[in-house]
Amino acid sequence: MLSIKNLHASIEGSPILNGINLEIKAGEVHAIMGPNGSGKSTLASVLAGREEYEVTQGEVIFQGKDLLELSPEDRAREGVFLAFQYPVEIPGVSSTNFLRTAINQVRSYRGQDPLDAVKFLSLMKEKMKLVEIDQKLLSRSLNEGFSGGEKKRNEIFQMAMLEPTLSILDETDSGLDIDALRVVSNGVNHLKSKDNATIVVTHYQRLLDYIVPDYVHVLYKGRIVKSGTKDLALELEEKGYDWIKEEVDGTT
Ligand code: ADP
Ligand code: MG
Ligand code: MG
Repeated sequence: MLSIKNLHASIEGSPILNGINLEIKAGEVHAIMGPNGSGKSTLASVLAGREEYEVTQGEVIFQGKDLLELSPEDRAREGVFLAFQYPVEIPGVSSTNFLRTAINQVRSYRGQDPLDAVKFLSLMKEKMKLVEIDQKLLSRSLNEGFSGGEKKRNEIFQMAMLEPTLSILDETDSGLDIDALRVVSNGVNHLKSKDNATIVVTHYQRLLDYIVPDYVHVLYKGRIVKSGTKDLALELEEKGYDWIKEEVDGTT
């Protein structure tokens, strides 16, 4: 589904990603871990197509298409969902209207008819249950005055509604409480299917108690320096990142 080859990216002329290689197949959940500043959010941002980041080398192929050639909007229409793409506050636009527009854009891109109001509402009801989100929240302006937990819940709700092919969740700086953690995890676990894939970016192992990844990758200095299964996350929980830094940096 996703093939990242020798990806290099810079911000304001400083190289941050220094040759990322990653293959993700449909049905898989991959966790990206690593110390602060290792480039995790940069990788997510580059996949999202955020303009501040300059790709200087390498390629990203998503379902046979060159992802780097697509605008952020077209990436979304192709089925790539980036959780931090939506936490912007949009005064005057309710979540409901935002989502209806977003879903119908995706459908139109796929050559499907738009959802009528009745079908849209019944889909909303089903997905609201899944993420335990309050209907009141959805009628308010998107993310305006939402608490951290509410934004996160809303994000997962959007993900549930859009049913993306590839979801990328950058959780690191969100300070999720236990309820939000459970909601995020339930959402991800429930939406998991043989046809989609998820990249979970996290600094801490905690989230991976709830979302069990098929593969865990450690990013350090803009490279994947170690890959393994969920046991690697447990090892990191126990031993921290220093031993990995030493392995990579060690000159003796
Ligand atoms: P992580 O998510 O793993 O903590 P980031 O991808 O956020 O790491 O950051 C990687 C490196 O890139 C850090 O050294 C950070 O200071 C730098 N960086 C990130 N964003 C910017 C920016 N907008 N301008 C300059 N440097 C940045
Ligand atoms: Mg960070
Ligand atoms: Mg980060």
